[in-house]
Amino acid sequence: SAGRIAFLGLGHMGEPMAVNLIKAGFDVVGFDVVPAAVDAAVGAGVPCAASAIEAATGARIVLTMFPSGDILLDAYRGVGEPGLLESAPPNTLFLDCSTIDVAQAREAAQLALAAGHRSADAPVSGGVVGAEAGTLTFMIGAEEGDLAHITPLLEVMGKKLVHCGGHGAGQAAKICNNMLLGISMIGAAEAFVLGEKLGLTHQALFDVISTASGQCWSVTTNCPVPGPVPASPANRDYVPGFAGALMAKDLGLALNAVETAGVAAQLGPMAAQIYRKFADEGGAGRDFSGIITEIRDKSGG
Ligand code: NAD
Repeated sequence: SAGRIAFLGLGHMGEPMAVNLIKAGFDVVGFDVVPAAVDAAVGAGVPCAASAIEAATGARIVLTMFPSGDILLDAYRGVGEPGLLESAPPNTLFLDCSTIDVAQAREAAQLALAAGHRSADAPVSGGVVGAEAGTLTFMIGAEEGDLAHITPLLEVMGKKLVHCGGHGAGQAAKICNNMLLGISMIGAAEAFVLGEKLGLTHQALFDVISTASGQCWSVTTNCPVPGPVPASPANRDYVPGFAGALMAKDLGLALNAVETAGVAAQLGPMAAQIYRKFADEGGAGRDFSGIITEIRDKSGG
């Protein structure tokens, strides 16, 4: 068996992921710093400990689903008290599924290894719907030898696993993908607003793009205009889906990596700026395809 799993961070994603592990028979002990999240998780059938340290005691795997890398590193190191790395049994596998900064993911792995543990990063795509259905995609950064230990869990929570390379490679793949997604959605939205101005119907433009060389997920699955793709958030007033706040976050991480790596990217940083503004000015809780509304408004309706 995988041994006990400490599942830390029982938010929108973490709770349904933990529930799926329990349903599949894994031994899971959860914890969240927000008491309401703990109550909800207990109600959903996730046994919880009184602290992260208590959850990690006796665990073979410490799985984290946190908002940020700062929070992860603080939890690993401990703030004014022993952290997870010091408290967990030797050779625990620290499996971080949060979306965090690539440099911080590498730092977290190094800290875990230096403390006598193992480490893997496995950020996800697929959102809350995928977390509930157990159909997430996991992008994995791990030593080859640790894959066998984490694959059984990840297969329960997800349906597609991609081993991208060593420590940090999962995070790297995630932010590269989401940088392209942000850029492509802005591009799709600009194309549809231009089409409107030129007198094209949404359906006509969709029928062309979806079968021609402009084809992309932002059009064929998450189409920013209502009609052509009935399940896209545009049909429900941009209820997410993938919220603007999360796109702004991921593009911020991509921007950090672009700057650190010294890539001559122009569209990625521009997309980061566009989505930061979108999130700050009312789009945080709307689907990221709602960016089309801004483009249309600025274009004179
Ligand atoms: P969330 O804010 O709902 O959940 C994070 C949880 O972590 C919160 O309940 C918070 O209280 C808890 N937490 C914070 N510090 C903690 C600590 N020290 N110990 C224990 N718990 C702590 O966020 P989410 O939507 O579940 O996303 C989690 C991660 O997954 C993020 O990194 C996000 O970028 C990524 N992600 C989210 C989605 C999505 O659609 N929501 C999709 C893909 C990836």
